[in-house]
Amino acid sequence: MARSDLVSLKIEWQGTIVSIQPRTRVWRYLTDNRTHYHLGYNLFLDGVADGYECRFGVAISEKQQIAGGFRIGDVVSGTAWSKQYPEREYADFYRAGSLKRQCASENSHEAAPPPWITAPPDMKTYEDRGARMLSLSCWKGKCFQCVWATMSNVEIIWDFDRRVSKYRFESFCYGPKSCKHYKMGKARSVPYKNRGSSLDSGWLDDLCTEGRDPDE
Ligand code: SF4
Repeated sequence: MARSDLVSLKIEWQGTIVSIQPRTRVWRYLTDNRTHYHLGYNLFLDGVADGYECRFGVAISEKQQIAGGFRIGDVVSGTAWSKQYPEREYADFYRAGSLKRQCASENSHEAAPPPWITAPPDMKTYEDRGARMLSLSCWKGKCFQCVWATMSNVEIIWDFDRRVSKYRFESFCYGPKSCKHYKMGKARSVPYKNRGSSLDSGWLDDLCTEGRDPDE
């Protein structure tokens, strides 16, 4: 069965939020075009999804986050749909609905950053700040709970004329450039038909974040 033929199914889930990150999409075309789009949030939870105990991610909208005011430590339940295109969406489930906070986080104390474990900012703030590439090991480790970390759904234009794209996931950071946890990781290859790969070695990061000082 082709991946695009997967049937999307509605499921129920409940769990404790362990991280809230922006849900982002990145459009890449060769190495000089990298555009970031800000779609909402990914809630990462430890709990039960579709009857299975696991850690899972649920994509929610900015409106849903504003209405719910969700925080790390909250126990939340809802519905969502499984993915029709797994290679295009990092969260395990999307189109979330019936969101309900079952139990508020008992932790009212915010630890000193970094990482920034706090209420996530709005989409415009992420848009204005811009992102830098973040190493996968940082994203999985010290940065996982930081509101500035994201795992983006990336589309790479592979054949512009025939509208053929490749898809993958990439980690980025919207946080202060001076953050002591930051590591870019390896340069990232951007393939294009009949050209081999070009490398995104970091200069686009400077461009994307040129509007702010190191400590902002
Ligand atoms: S490197 Fe970025 S994501 Fe990681 S803790 Fe620092 S600001 Fe947060």
